[in-house]
Amino acid sequence: MILQKTFRDNHLTKRKVINTGELDRYIVKNNHEAIISHEVFAEAERVRKAKSLQKVSPSIQNQYAFKGMMRCGICGRAYVRKTTPSKYIWKCSLSVTKGKDTCASKQVPDSIIIEASNRILNKTDFDEKQFNSKVKAIEVMPEHRLIFHMKDGLNKEYLWQTSRSDSWTNEMKEQARIRAINQMKGRVQHG
Ligand SMILES: [Zn+2]
Repeated sequence: MILQKTFRDNHLTKRKVINTGELDRYIVKNNHEAIISHEVFAEAERVRKAKSLQKVSPSIQNQYAFKGMMRCGICGRAYVRKTTPSKYIWKCSLSVTKGKDTCASKQVPDSIIIEASNRILNKTDFDEKQFNSKVKAIEVMPEHRLIFHMKDGLNKEYLWQTSRSDSWTNEMKEQARIRAINQMKGRVQHG
């Protein structure tokens, strides 16, 4: 049975009009007792949608935040996310599909991209909405450099360290980061 085949176009005239798409039609199976109102249907839809959003885990959301936004600074291909037993990493898609000898780019842990984004956006927690509103693309450069191409036209650089560089103090890291950003700013202004 199809509900809302007809509707009253006006509460005053109560004229019945054939529904040719002005209103949603509902197909209800076993309609003997299960006739649901528009409100109940809308509420059920709202609950269903809210539930489906809850199912998305933070890591999946991050994947979508960075997906299509990261590219290889060496070969220009997209960076894609891969799963290792312990973490998510991002790799140049050329080296993933054609072998690691095809591109000299390095993999970047997902956690580093989140950390870099937070530092660049001056946030303590990752905020996907803000990220999307500010960042156009992330370019993965050699020597642990990430270049954030911002939507306002500026480029911001972030240097990250591997575990081998753990002897760096936080102060040294911060100095290197600021130096890199200043160099980048100079390049943009004078270039
Ligand atoms: Zn590459």
